[in-house]
Amino acid sequence: MPIALAPLAARLPSSPLTRFAPAPTGVLHLGHVVNAIYVWGLARALGGRVLLRVENHDKQRCRPEYEAALLEDLDWLGFEPDVFPPAAFRAGACEGRQSDRGLHYTRAAQSLIARGLVYGCQCTRREIDAANAAAGSAGPGGDADELHYPGTCRARGLALGGPVGWRLVVDPGVVTFDDAVHGPSRQDPWAQCGDLLLRDRLGNWTYQFAVTVDDLAHGVDLVVRGDDLFASTGRQMLLGRLLGRPRPPVFLHHPLVMKSRTQKLSKADGDTGVRDLRAAGWSAERVIGHAAHLAELLAAEREVAVSELPSLVGV
Ligand SMILES: [Zn+2]
Repeated sequence: MPIALAPLAARLPSSPLTRFAPAPTGVLHLGHVVNAIYVWGLARALGGRVLLRVENHDKQRCRPEYEAALLEDLDWLGFEPDVFPPAAFRAGACEGRQSDRGLHYTRAAQSLIARGLVYGCQCTRREIDAANAAAGSAGPGGDADELHYPGTCRARGLALGGPVGWRLVVDPGVVTFDDAVHGPSRQDPWAQCGDLLLRDRLGNWTYQFAVTVDDLAHGVDLVVRGDDLFASTGRQMLLGRLLGRPRPPVFLHHPLVMKSRTQKLSKADGDTGVRDLRAAGWSAERVIGHAAHLAELLAAEREVAVSELPSLVGV
């Protein structure tokens, strides 16, 4: 189903700062291109700016060579970030790269620790699964990706200094928001996942924590991303509020693109990588047009330049 963005214009901030935020765990593929079409299309249509963020919070899975490749692919495609452009990353340490922002995450966590909201957790994923099974549930979240943490370590008083995860005390309660595509929405972060992990046992800041700190620090007020992240909106809003954010960003979740009517797109498919298409002789405009067509933003496949994107997203 194509999404009609035009009626949503009233829900979108004017002159927003939005972000394109890939994780360098692989190369850019058509799913990223679809997201970039929405991000740049909306930013340009609304007179806003795009910030580039490299989400390499997971030290075990992210690779510098993937970062270099994604910067090069963005240049080739013609997507130009206004804040933290590729040159800023290539120059060395950059505030757009999460691994260069450890101090900011530590400071943000300290503000929560000082209020007694964080405790140490030693549980492995297997132990959390076992605790949930013993309690006769896979957790109330009901989402396969989400693990409901049953609060095992809440009262154990583990020191945060050792090899323990850092969890945020979350109280049950509904967070409401007006998603620019989905409309009025309600999520209960505690019911979904229990106490939130801020830092894992290996010392990696979690995705939820790092992006919430980043969005607040950089003043991102429009978050444009795929439906696969819709369920995490409530917890990011809750976290942002605890970190002192007065107003949450506007969230817009667009449909994920399919390879065909029945096949989901995946990084494992060599034929969806931007580099593979480029190597096969495709032009950047053809790649963007193909992605736009897959996203049903274009009725018929044709070459599309970045400058055309505002009219494509139709705000
Ligand atoms: Zn635990």
